Amino acid sequence: MIEQVVEGVWWIRGQDDFLPDSHMYVIGLPESDDFTLVDCGLMGKGEYKLDSIDRCRVRLEHVRRIIMTHTHLDHIGCLPELKAAAPHVEVWIHSDEAFAIERGDERIVMGNSMFESMVRGMFPLPKDAFQMTVQHKLEDGELLNLGGLLFKVVHIPGHSVGSIGLLHEDRRLFLSGDTIYADWAIGRYDLVSADPAQLKRSLELIAGLDVDILLPCHNRIVNGGAAPMIKETVAQWGPYLG
Ligand SMILES: [Zn+2]
Ligand SMILES: [Zn+2]
Repeated sequence: MIEQVVEGVWWIRGQDDFLPDSHMYVIGLPESDDFTLVDCGLMGKGEYKLDSIDRCRVRLEHVRRIIMTHTHLDHIGCLPELKAAAPHVEVWIHSDEAFAIERGDERIVMGNSMFESMVRGMFPLPKDAFQMTVQHKLEDGELLNLGGLLFKVVHIPGHSVGSIGLLHEDRRLFLSGDTIYADWAIGRYDLVSADPAQLKRSLELIAGLDVDILLPCHNRIVNGGAAPMIKETVAQWGPYLG
């Protein structure tokens, strides 16, 4: 399922089966010929995501980069499939997770050892499947011109150490990864590199942003009027996060 959220931002809904598949966002003004993907999805979902990009009328050779909100398996799983189809595409990840990816350290990707053994039983994953060069290591506060749309990188650790959000200040649009969702839900904080106290600070930071459109990586999106829900979510979860 594909929906254009605002001009230059498409939402490609994840196809959850037994395991969740993250949403993917496609960013860039149609006339720019410079497109960015935000997150990919689970293993085996590459074909669905490539087909969806095509349906946005975005040509694969015009996709310049993939930005990961973080490197959990349900977001990075089909990145090797996308890179096989489009080897020119750069990978951009926050520095706190980029170095692990470059070293082939997959502990954050897998989340925990129980999940890892389940996944390895389900998918024939080669060793170092996700070891790759990260062309751009993102830092908090960086301004990115993504195909004519200006986004600010907001480092929001807690769900994972290198989690980021992307904020378009003029449109008051925030891509929140797995840190905060619609319907008063937040990302889990029990996986490798997660930290509830950091998550609390990140949520408070998000509540202080002026956000109208909330674009998380799972479940529904909030296409307008998101601010009260964000503030209520943060207030409700605060006491559980230390
Ligand atoms: Zn996650
Ligand atoms: Zn996820």
